[in-house]
Amino acid sequence: MVLEDKRDKSMSFTQMVIEEDSMRNGRGLSDQWADSVVVRPRTTERHITVHRRLVLGFAISILGLIIVTIIAVLLSVKFEECGNESSARVGNTTAYNGRESSSNPNRSKTAGQPWAQLRLPASVKPSHYDLNITVFMDNFTFSGVVSIQIDCVKSTRYIVLHADKLRIKGVEVTVENRSAPLGLRRYFLYPQNQMLVIILTHDLKAHQRYTVTLNYGALIADELLGFFRSSYVTAGERRYLAVTQFSPTHARKTFPCFDEPVYKATFRIGIKYQDTYLALSNMPVDVTTHEEGGWVTDRFVQTPRMSTYYLAWAICNFTYKETVTDSGITVGLYARPDAIQQGSGDYALNITKRLLEFYEDYFNISYSLPKLDLLAVPKFPYAAMENWGLSVFVEERILLDTEVSSISHFLDVTMVVIHEICHQWFGDLVTPIWWEDVWLKEGFAHYFEYIGTDYLHPEFNMEKQRFLTDNLHEVMVLDGLASSHPISQEVLQATDIDRVFDWIAYKKGAALIRMVANFMGQNVFQKGLQAFLTAHMYGNAGRNDLWNKLRETLQKIGKNINIKEVMDCWTLQMGYPVVTIVRNEKNVDILTITQEHFLYDHNRKSTNSSNSSYLWKIPLTVAVGNLSHISTETMIWINNKTENHQIGMLDENIWFLGNLNQTGYFRVNYDLKNWRLLIEQLMTKPEVISVGNRAGLIDDAFNLARAGYLPQSIPLEIIKYLHKEKEFLPWHAASNVLLYLDRLVDRNKEYNIFKQYVVQQVASMYLALGWPEDAANSSVVQASYQTEELRRKVLLLSCKFGIVHCHNKATLLLSKWMETGQNRIPPNVRDIVYCTGISLMDDNVWEFIWSKYQSSTVVLERKILLESLACSKNPLLLSRLLNLSLSSQLVPDQNVIDVIIHVAKYPNGRDLAWKFFQEKWATFNSRFGEALFIISRLIKGVTEFLSTEVEFNELKSFVKNLRKGEDASFTQAIEIVDTNVRWHDQLEDELFQWLRNSLNS
Ligand SMILES: [Zn+2]
Repeated sequence: MVLEDKRDKSMSFTQMVIEEDSMRNGRGLSDQWADSVVVRPRTTERHITVHRRLVLGFAISILGLIIVTIIAVLLSVKFEECGNESSARVGNTTAYNGRESSSNPNRSKTAGQPWAQLRLPASVKPSHYDLNITVFMDNFTFSGVVSIQIDCVKSTRYIVLHADKLRIKGVEVTVENRSAPLGLRRYFLYPQNQMLVIILTHDLKAHQRYTVTLNYGALIADELLGFFRSSYVTAGERRYLAVTQFSPTHARKTFPCFDEPVYKATFRIGIKYQDTYLALSNMPVDVTTHEEGGWVTDRFVQTPRMSTYYLAWAICNFTYKETVTDSGITVGLYARPDAIQQGSGDYALNITKRLLEFYEDYFNISYSLPKLDLLAVPKFPYAAMENWGLSVFVEERILLDTEVSSISHFLDVTMVVIHEICHQWFGDLVTPIWWEDVWLKEGFAHYFEYIGTDYLHPEFNMEKQRFLTDNLHEVMVLDGLASSHPISQEVLQATDIDRVFDWIAYKKGAALIRMVANFMGQNVFQKGLQAFLTAHMYGNAGRNDLWNKLRETLQKIGKNINIKEVMDCWTLQMGYPVVTIVRNEKNVDILTITQEHFLYDHNRKSTNSSNSSYLWKIPLTVAVGNLSHISTETMIWINNKTENHQIGMLDENIWFLGNLNQTGYFRVNYDLKNWRLLIEQLMTKPEVISVGNRAGLIDDAFNLARAGYLPQSIPLEIIKYLHKEKEFLPWHAASNVLLYLDRLVDRNKEYNIFKQYVVQQVASMYLALGWPEDAANSSVVQASYQTEELRRKVLLLSCKFGIVHCHNKATLLLSKWMETGQNRIPPNVRDIVYCTGISLMDDNVWEFIWSKYQSSTVVLERKILLESLACSKNPLLLSRLLNLSLSSQLVPDQNVIDVIIHVAKYPNGRDLAWKFFQEKWATFNSRFGEALFIISRLIKGVTEFLSTEVEFNELKSFVKNLRKGEDASFTQAIEIVDTNVRWHDQLEDELFQWLRNSLNS
């Protein structure tokens, strides 16, 4: 149902474009007419000239038409000739370009050319693939034969499927169970849409099954997509491996297929390779046969119905460890032999076993396959990919040495594994219909990172705590921009497919899902998910299918909430609201609640009238309390712009608080009197307000002030309570917003009074907590997560803002390492120590860290060492670092971006990084341009803290000179810098005035 709907939409879009073009042409023509008739003087001579021009024009058009027709006929003859050549690729590409350029497309033409649409025509669909490939690792090529069973849904002469960069050697179509091939008129590749078109002499019949067999060859690519190669060095010898990455649209680079998630089918894969390697795929090996010359063929067990994008295989020399779950599923971890030997994969393997059991229980559905392998590869385009039964991870995100790892790396590995295993159900078993709903699978997997960590390590309390700082607060900064976009984005062209995988999809997706789970209640929500997955297993489903199941589940317990109606305003509108709760002046018992679209840029607020009409259905929880306790907690739905509500008993000294535990995806603002009551509460007895809300108040206050909704003094008054705060989360929230604010003011001539102010707030906690134990005694497994992370945050702020003791301790630790050659610095604070040391000590320290970076073999340690080099205050060293970062022998691809972003973070490097970025843009664009995610992170990182009028103008003129298409990623950057400049103009003085008064009083 939904599929048909989408197809109609994309078709009508193409038609719309065509109609618009012809309209434009039409208008252009009549404008010329208007010019010649109206503006010119109406003399007889003039008339004659006009008539002559008309006749001449007409003759030229006729002549033009004749020439075009002749060219078209000639080309189509050539086209016919090329059609039956064995190498269809060359012949037909030429033919196609000829046609495209020789005439304007019109509706009747594209209507007869189903390959000219973005989506595959639905007239045939695959039910089963038999795919056999032979892999030649000596020259990095492979050949393949694929037989696809297709069912004809609607009578057609065309079979259109996907193929990209494949050399098609032969095509045959037969009726099922018959050997005689059907007549082929021609076949050709249509590279514009990465399609292969097979045209038959006679129509295929509806409800008949056919087999399409294709013979082809291709390269094992040196890029990180499709079926690609990678290498590593072990015992001084370079070893190669080949692995697949098909999501979202790269299966077509490896075999001709119906490469859209909705075309699910079963797959039987066979791989022939040299027996010095081993082969893996989604399913276990069924039969192995050996042949002469060291060739071996593995035939894998047939898969259940699945989409192409999470099919996978790999050829490698890895070794492995395995374990079996209680329900009999074999879990394997494959990695470089030395990593397996050192036990670096043990942690991931152990949690995977536990997590399979957790999800089977949570979803109430058994894992679908007999095995699940995790594969750790040295190079991969993403952190990981959830291929069903064979998930692939980049090494640094799955291998872990618990003895020397920091807590953040430990959490990182844990969460990536949880994410990919969640996808085995959410994504693999039940798959989005089309890419516009990719946020459903990504949002769920991201949300479960927190739920799953709580299952494995309940003491971390992730869903109630870290979710706020690491997910909610982060994405609300992005989504508060006028250049944001709705989470459900229409995907109208191929380039949109990569674009939908962004932080809005992952993080806002997770935040919205968390909001639903909380207003439904966790248990009912879980039941709803079970019903949704059970109803759609081995199939596809869109967001409306989910909303319907959740609503049905609620109805069963007698609650009626139209979830679709509620969620449509969160998923189809961009951004989020700020809810303002104000005490009614005449009637103190009544709260007036209003909602409006939160935007950082005030000017856009007033000029963009469409946004001011945005309304959300908001599940608002409100608590009412006084200095000793909370007296009332209620939930109300806010549907209108302004509403009045009576909540509990209010008097002069009672405060109210909205969005309890920050389960809702919105910000809350109050009247100033209420802000002061809340601050008083924090100063006297903070624990009356929940940890989540303490962090939430800090984040909301800073961001509301940054956007001009609140006086600049309120956030600074709030953080004065920090000396009473013993929990990690509010410190984490405070450190995030303070570091952000720091970068906005770090070039102000009065910057020192801001530093002084932060030091005042941090000093007593620094004294109380001190430094962590020596590295030899610290292990993340034993350490208390809360204490260690809290200590880390306080140390970070203390060293950053200049507590002398912190500086001395850091330089001492670093000097000891340089003297003794033994690094005893606790892993959890190494980045802080390196950075502080480099910023304060002489150039020898920089050289020392640079040499350690070059000699270290621990991937994570290398990253920390490299990034700390950006902390230097010496512009010559910073320039050297920027230049060194472009040498791929010294700095791996995935770290280049981080180096530049780190240089831009500090006042001494910001201008250097910005200049360097402009100079080297062509290099960056050619190296990372295809990976949208990386390039947009670079642009954001380099420009985010530019804040002067001069820098803003430089940015605008730089963007103006870019080529078409290159400028798309800069919209956000321009808005951010614009907002920074305005903040400096309008609000910075207010902030410093308050700081001066505060320090003098
Ligand atoms: Zn994912």
